[in-house]
Amino acid sequence: MELTGTPEIMHYKLLDPDKKDILLIDDMADNLRILSSILTKEGYNVRKALNWQMAITACQTVVPDLILLDIMMPDVDGYQVCQRLKSWDITAEIPVIFISALDEIFDKVKAFKVGGVDYISKPFDFQEVLVRVQNQIALRTAKLEILQLNNELEKKINQRTWELEKTLEILQKEIASRQQLQGKMLDMVLYDSLTSLPNRFMFSKRLEKSLRLAKEASNYHFAVLFLDCDRFKVVNDSLGHLVGDELLIAISRRLQTCLRSDEILARLGGDEFGIILENLPDINAAIQVAERILSQLSLSFKLSRYEVFINASIGINWGSKDYEQPEYLLRDADTAMYHAKALGRARYHVFNPAMYQEAIQLLDLENDLRRAIERQEFIVYYQPIISLATGRVSGFEALVRWQHPVRGLIFPTEFIPIAEETGLINTIDKWVLHSACRQVRIWQDYPGIPKNLTISANLSARLFSQPNLIFEIDQIIQETKINPAILQLEITESVIMENTHTVKTVIHQLKERNIKLIMDDFGTGYSSLSYLHNFPLNALKIDKSFVKIMGEEPEKMGLLPAIIGMAESMGITVIAEGVETKEQLKKLQSLNCDFAQGYLFSKPIEPQLVLDFLNAEPQW
Ligand code: C2E
Ligand code: MG
Ligand code: MG
Repeated sequence: MELTGTPEIMHYKLLDPDKKDILLIDDMADNLRILSSILTKEGYNVRKALNWQMAITACQTVVPDLILLDIMMPDVDGYQVCQRLKSWDITAEIPVIFISALDEIFDKVKAFKVGGVDYISKPFDFQEVLVRVQNQIALRTAKLEILQLNNELEKKINQRTWELEKTLEILQKEIASRQQLQGKMLDMVLYDSLTSLPNRFMFSKRLEKSLRLAKEASNYHFAVLFLDCDRFKVVNDSLGHLVGDELLIAISRRLQTCLRSDEILARLGGDEFGIILENLPDINAAIQVAERILSQLSLSFKLSRYEVFINASIGINWGSKDYEQPEYLLRDADTAMYHAKALGRARYHVFNPAMYQEAIQLLDLENDLRRAIERQEFIVYYQPIISLATGRVSGFEALVRWQHPVRGLIFPTEFIPIAEETGLINTIDKWVLHSACRQVRIWQDYPGIPKNLTISANLSARLFSQPNLIFEIDQIIQETKINPAILQLEITESVIMENTHTVKTVIHQLKERNIKLIMDDFGTGYSSLSYLHNFPLNALKIDKSFVKIMGEEPEKMGLLPAIIGMAESMGITVIAEGVETKEQLKKLQSLNCDFAQGYLFSKPIEPQLVLDFLNAEPQW
């Protein structure tokens, strides 16, 4: 054992390291000599000290393995020496055997009390000394070994602890990253990735909660709002999906500004949003929020590259506790939203149970409509179009009707919107076109009937996004053998708004075949005259509302003269729709309108009445 940093360290190097080192402390030189010679003979390394000072120096040099200590010494006696050694860190662990002539029990007890490990009485027996020394040395060696083993064990434990800590650290990191991933996945399940708003799933969970609260507390009232953007598709189709996405984000932010932070706003999908308003006094509070939203949405959205205007229709449903399922609350808000759309968009509508019945009826109608196609329940009526220059019939517009087996004759305004929504319109329109072409061909073959009698058919905007439309038109022309130049297709402004590549191609191909294109209901939609320049139209059909105004308030000719004048200058023919009185007819004639159509001449009639009509004298 080294006493580090002490200069006596050199002596230690001289000691035989293989031998156990015993320090003898006795004031009697003779005793020292005798003991030393015995122990040296036994193979120990023996050092001697006559007093405390020498003993301390010896210990500082090398810490001995054992000390044999005399009790009775001048100045500092053996007990004191032992106490000092025990109080000193470096020497505290050295076993001390007392050797003394004092042989009282009291002395022995004291010797053990101050820290001695054994006691040998003088005069001593050599053998006894040797055995006791060997014992203590063996004990000490064992102790040291245990200590060393302990140290090694501790080292191993430390190493293991370190390794475990490392593993724990790695595990914790792994757990953290998994938790993060889990969080992200939870977000994906509950939130909409585009707007970061709650999604439909989370919305229905919140709705469930509101319904539960309403069932539990009679003073808790809430409302559900279903918001759908009007004509969002136009933005997507004309400006692209990226702009559409940007707009959706902007809409969601603006909606948030209309709501309190504790009110729930969710994106239900596409351009649909859901709102839950809680703790409302009455329905008026929900209406106020809807009005605020509508007025905020009516302001333009300044996106990165475009300024866009968008409106929305909102359905409001009062959260009655009688609902069984939260989904039904949303369903009815949705129904109310559809009513808002049907009433002209950019407005709200409050749900009432009658609407549910209507919705069911609508569904029935949709099912019936599918069957109607198979059962061929459609009939085409024909309304004459009069040339104002000659006063003669120039052609007919084909208008579809549905002969419902139970409800009787149903007008197109009732079923065309459903047919458009469900896609059934494609089949209906093609069937009408086919029937009309076949029919006009039959009439033309009658003597006295002009060969250039035109036939107009209404085509839904949906058909124009179908690349095979032209192929089917060709087939109809071939089969019915009509001259394509007498065919006039009536389209709505939405076709022009969706002026996609497919639409352009279809229109180009129609032109090639000399098929005419008529813009129907002109003035009711976007009414932008600018598109007339870059869209190859043959005729404009002025909506009946213009004709009506003209008749009621003569001074209010409105835009009519301007529209007719401009169309004329562009070489576009003008047809006036909904002419019911002679006054209206006269005014249109005075404005140089080309054609007219309306009850004044004839209502749409069944095909079997057409020939008689053509042969009769004009009444106008
Ligand atoms: P539209 O193409 O503008 O047809 C004119 C509508 O005005 C017809 O209604 C016609 O009966 C009505 N009408 C004609 N003259 C007068 C009049 O003097 N006064 C009044 N008040 N109304 C008059 P109808 O037949 O009910 O058709 C409504 C709409 O349904 C049509 O409007 C057209 O957009 C659509 N539609 C009709 N048949 C078809 C079809 O085969 N395919 C498609 N896609 N739509 C069709
Ligand atoms: Mg029409
Ligand atoms: Mg029309």
